[in-house]
Amino acid sequence: MDSYSLPNDPEQVIEADRAHVWHHLVQHKPFETIDPRIIVEGKGLRLWDIKGKEHIDAVAGGVWTVNVGYGRERIGKAIADQVTKMCFFGGTMGTIPAATFAEMLTAKMPGLDRVYYANSGSEANEKAFKMVRQISQKHYGGKKHKILYRDRDYHGTTIAALSAGGQDDRNAHYGPFAPGFVRVPHCLEYRSQDGSTGEAYGEKSAQMIEDVILAEGPDTIGALCLEPITAGGGIIVPPEGYWPRVQEICRKYDILLHIDEVVCGFGRTGTWFGYQHFGIEPDFVTMAKGVASGYAAISCCVTSNRVFEMFKDDTDKMSYFRDISTFGGCTGGPAAAIENMKIIEEEDLVANSAAMGDHLMGRLSELMDKHAWIGDIRGKGLFAGAELVRDRDTKEPIDEKYTAAIVADCMAQGVIIGGTNRSVPGFNNTLLFAPALIATKDDLDQVVAAVDKAIGRVL
Ligand code: PLP
Repeated sequence: MDSYSLPNDPEQVIEADRAHVWHHLVQHKPFETIDPRIIVEGKGLRLWDIKGKEHIDAVAGGVWTVNVGYGRERIGKAIADQVTKMCFFGGTMGTIPAATFAEMLTAKMPGLDRVYYANSGSEANEKAFKMVRQISQKHYGGKKHKILYRDRDYHGTTIAALSAGGQDDRNAHYGPFAPGFVRVPHCLEYRSQDGSTGEAYGEKSAQMIEDVILAEGPDTIGALCLEPITAGGGIIVPPEGYWPRVQEICRKYDILLHIDEVVCGFGRTGTWFGYQHFGIEPDFVTMAKGVASGYAAISCCVTSNRVFEMFKDDTDKMSYFRDISTFGGCTGGPAAAIENMKIIEEEDLVANSAAMGDHLMGRLSELMDKHAWIGDIRGKGLFAGAELVRDRDTKEPIDEKYTAAIVADCMAQGVIIGGTNRSVPGFNNTLLFAPALIATKDDLDQVVAAVDKAIGRVL
């Protein structure tokens, strides 16, 4: 049998990429004069590009996805074995890996019982939105159809997901958006809207959600969709006092709580799921990136039986969830997810994320002592951010070109970090760190040393 082979002449690949690939989130004009970067191999936290340069990846595949690190042969083998035996059948029928992974997953999520398979985080979120809309029509006569989302949160790239998007720069060109999505204020203590801090700020932020509910009319609100820790909006860990009030408000007004774990799931924040830090009981949990660590495209919308039962009524022809996702029937996704979950368990990566997260925060705090440009550091587990300001007293955000220059300087040093580059006034500029959960102290020290150098050179 012929083995899998690809062109290996770097110039040929670079030219094919330059001529035909439209990269995500990238302005292509500079590629007229500089080469696009092509990644060819990964092992652990390390990547090698087509020119042979080695990089430490401190953002797990750029978008916080490769939780178990690169080069896991057993995941590749599981996918190959499964798809060779049975690659696909649309989700109307079950498959062995889909049933097995659903059982393993729900065992980690007490109170949640049902797994709806899809392909991307955006899609998983849309499944939950559609379930809320259908519940509204069937059980509330079309009332309770509105979905609340939070300023600075992000739930995906499709038009409905962007309609629930709290990052205005991402939405800027793509309106008009879907009706029935209503924004509530963020809960970033560093940018406290009224100067309150700590638990008082947490309770105040939750109160602002209740204010919106009362203004809209509680009988119009079906769900509240939140990231447990806001990711791309600047690594926002809600303060004490926030989540208990949020849960209470949802119960008080019979509002379904949808937690978007697309980033925070699978150990990223030092617990299996981000919401598990806060003792809350969601009705929907959506997840994508860490489900199979990027080895296969798979996402899940996990619900409680309470939600599931609302779709079971065989006296009503239209009561079932009238939805499909073709590639939610791929078997490679759950096969990869099973091995991914076993690796996280066997190597105790959730605990490593918590312990190494503490180390990372310690090193960032030293960096903050050294550089007054760092106004705030935030994070949980191997998920951290350092917000850059022009002035610590006024908290005026630094010009985004400096954030980009620091990220580029690190890249030149062979260290890949992330950065939020917000052109919308008032948006913070934050350096982002989310390496694979196998990261060691030594890896993290190398990353922080590169950032230290970069800040020294750029600012
Ligand atoms: N939800 C959150 C919190 C995200 O950060 C993202 C993507 O970064 C998404 C949803 C969308 O996921 P996807 O890009 O897989 O559609």
